[in-house]
Amino acid sequence: MSHCRDMIKKLADYLDGDLEPEFCTELEKHLKGCNNCKLMINSMKMTVQLCKDGTCEDLPQEFQDKFQQKLAERWKKKFDRQ
Ligand SMILES: [Zn+2]
Repeated sequence: MSHCRDMIKKLADYLDGDLEPEFCTELEKHLKGCNNCKLMINSMKMTVQLCKDGTCEDLPQEFQDKFQQKLAERWKKKFDRQ
């Protein structure tokens, strides 16, 4: 599943909608078969969506930091083991 690493690396760009269409297609294909990445993206998308809706400002900075940290930790653990 080393493919996941490549996917995650580009996730930030993906969420900004700033990726080449080729990768988006590839990523979406990957997501159909990879629940881990799907969950990850859904979490991130939710965060991005919150921010875009403007409700982001209502979330304490500490909460946001913790959330990002948790996600990062989870993925680090997952991929470092392989
Ligand atoms: Zn994956």
